[in-house]
Amino acid sequence: MSVLTSVSPQAPDDVVVEVPETSAADVVKAAEAARTAQLDWWRAPAPTRAAALGAAAAALRARAEEAAALVVREVGKPRVEAVGEVGRAVAILEYYAQAAYAPLGATLPASLPGLLYTERRPHGVAGLVTPWNFPLAIPLWKAAPALAAGNAVLLKPSPDATGSALWLADLLAGVLPADLFRVLPGGAETGSAICDAADVVSFTGSVGVGRQVVARAAQRGVHVQAEMGGQNAAIVLHDADPGLAAAQIAGAAMGFAGQKCTATRRVVVVGGEQRAAAVVEALVAAVQGLQPGDPSQAGVLVGPVIGPAARRKVLDATAAVTASGGRVLAGGTSVDRDGWFVAPTLLDGIAADHPVAMTETFGPMAVVQRAADVAEAVALAEGVDFGLVTSVHGRDMGDILEVVRGVQTGMVKVNAPTTGVDFWAPFGGERDSSYGQREQGLAALDFYSSVRTITLSPHP
Ligand code: NAD
Repeated sequence: MSVLTSVSPQAPDDVVVEVPETSAADVVKAAEAARTAQLDWWRAPAPTRAAALGAAAAALRARAEEAAALVVREVGKPRVEAVGEVGRAVAILEYYAQAAYAPLGATLPASLPGLLYTERRPHGVAGLVTPWNFPLAIPLWKAAPALAAGNAVLLKPSPDATGSALWLADLLAGVLPADLFRVLPGGAETGSAICDAADVVSFTGSVGVGRQVVARAAQRGVHVQAEMGGQNAAIVLHDADPGLAAAQIAGAAMGFAGQKCTATRRVVVVGGEQRAAAVVEALVAAVQGLQPGDPSQAGVLVGPVIGPAARRKVLDATAAVTASGGRVLAGGTSVDRDGWFVAPTLLDGIAADHPVAMTETFGPMAVVQRAADVAEAVALAEGVDFGLVTSVHGRDMGDILEVVRGVQTGMVKVNAPTTGVDFWAPFGGERDSSYGQREQGLAALDFYSSVRTITLSPHP
């Protein structure tokens, strides 16, 4: 059986974990054991599930420092963001601990004497396939609602975040019944086996893989959702303060080396040449102020990218831009130090349909685009196959509302960065960014449940 290795991107000789991949046969066995454990879990009263998830939150809080250090080490997340992710993971567990008490359904007017009511029931075993960039928060924002609704969970983490997922499994083993939450390390084969074995599937990752996961699960007739990439635009209106907008946008584009699905990938500047020049000057200064460094050090906001292929993609995209007559405003080069570092890169002067403007490069890279007016800015922002999030920066409420109403993305941020997610609100996008129901918030309880309608009449 092949072995999977996860290394630290800032120190590739540092092996975080080396484990065998899970075979398809072992996935089937884990699903059988999970299905048995799920029956008792679901039959247990809601306070029992709430208490277990609450205990999970407390256990994670008690080991928060250890968790954050592991996330920094395994995926190169800047320390401040890793600490934030662990805090968010604790809050997610607390939130869904209480969600175990949420109403199970509604009572409706009955056509017969008696009761007509609905009741949510768990699907059974939830199969989760996750990326590496939020090694704790993404697995937990899927697993916690799945568990709260009464399901068991099989988690297939990204190979590059396997150490963090196994750490989480160890933590949860202390508070959850045996076999209820299992981490199954592996790559594509293990992920496919999960899609074949689970009763409901939730995926987060790239669009290419997401489509395969959706097709595989749908073919079996099981519920599936997929959160995929983004090619998110930040629109800078004519009356936005250039410095303030640039600071927010540079952070959203380059923070954590741009490795967020919600990262800003395109900056659309509204106005004439002089206005564009002022905004671009502020952007270049803000981007150049974000120099990459050791992610474990306080004050560092940009660490390495996850691996050599990810760095290559940023360098190749830069080369493609210059080859077609575009300009490199900042970065575009690797950084001469151990690890997979690349300088935050700002590109300009390419057509709106250039592949670099149209497709997601998962790294610290953004493209500047120009629009004469708000309508053109909306058309540019919308001119890609993705539809995750748009930010708009400015003061005039008419212009802001034209953008808010004009774009079709699943999320819109006004005078706020494209990045940053409130876990109690529905999360998801349109077009290639998402498939199926929204994640997070109370919407997640619906996804991990099936609704039955019950007619209850007295004996005649
Ligand atoms: P990826 O698509 O390469 O991998 C995601 C997961 O799918 C991993 O666990 C991987 O091992 C597994 N996998 C690979 N092939 C598979 C197959 N054939 N069947 C089943 N599973 C398979 O993504 P990644 O590189 O880990 O993460 C980066 C991507 O994730 C980016 O595109 C980013 O935009 C996206 N992302 C989206 C969101 C969101 O909520 N929209 C959040 C974070 C990341």
